[in-house]
Amino acid sequence: STFEELGINQSILAGLYSMNFKKPSKIQEKALPLLLSNPPTNMIAQSQSGTGKTAAFVITILSRLDYTKPHQPQALCLAPSRELARQIEGVVKSIGQFVPGLTIQAAVPGAVERNAKVQAMVVVGTPGTVMDLIKRRQFDVSNMKVMCLDEADNMLDQQGLGDQCLRVKQMIPRIDQILLFSATFPDTVMRYAQQFSPGANEIKL
Ligand code: AMP
Repeated sequence: STFEELGINQSILAGLYSMNFKKPSKIQEKALPLLLSNPPTNMIAQSQSGTGKTAAFVITILSRLDYTKPHQPQALCLAPSRELARQIEGVVKSIGQFVPGLTIQAAVPGAVERNAKVQAMVVVGTPGTVMDLIKRRQFDVSNMKVMCLDEADNMLDQQGLGDQCLRVKQMIPRIDQILLFSATFPDTVMRYAQQFSPGANEIKL
């Protein structure tokens, strides 16, 4: 199949082609029809790194944004380390490079000044920092459309991180779509994942 057939917006397609992504990878082919369908539904996706999972959720995030509201945080992606968060931020910037008006911000330790507001459409961060920003009212999460956890196994099985992810989710009044991506889902993590992302479509590469 092709990216066009998935109904992906022209400006996102331009980003994909400029990165030399010619057609969807296997996980993208399987996940994107579900990820992009309306009304939005939750997903738990198991796929090794290197299979194109980052692009799958980034395409979804970019497809869900309301571009008339550039200062309103609408998508939140959480990762277990600041390095991974920065990496994801880079992928959002690359795939979104031709998307007019797109705004992106990292919410990792040291990235957001004290008292400054988070005012980007897409926020990529680590759970502790994101939790603090929401608590301190620097980050308004009342218009969140998509929430995505990358390396969900790493986050949900660690006491500290898992609690922080849950706290963040509980501070968000409503979310249209919750996405969990991970290379593995051991049984205990899967049970927690199913609570975190209720009614999710489960796919496995
Ligand atoms: P990930 O699974 O997110 O770690 O991505 C693995 C690698 O595959 C990254 O270097 C991406 O740039 C690349 N990639 C993702 N999607 C595609 C695609 N559709 N075609 C070619 N390369 C891709």
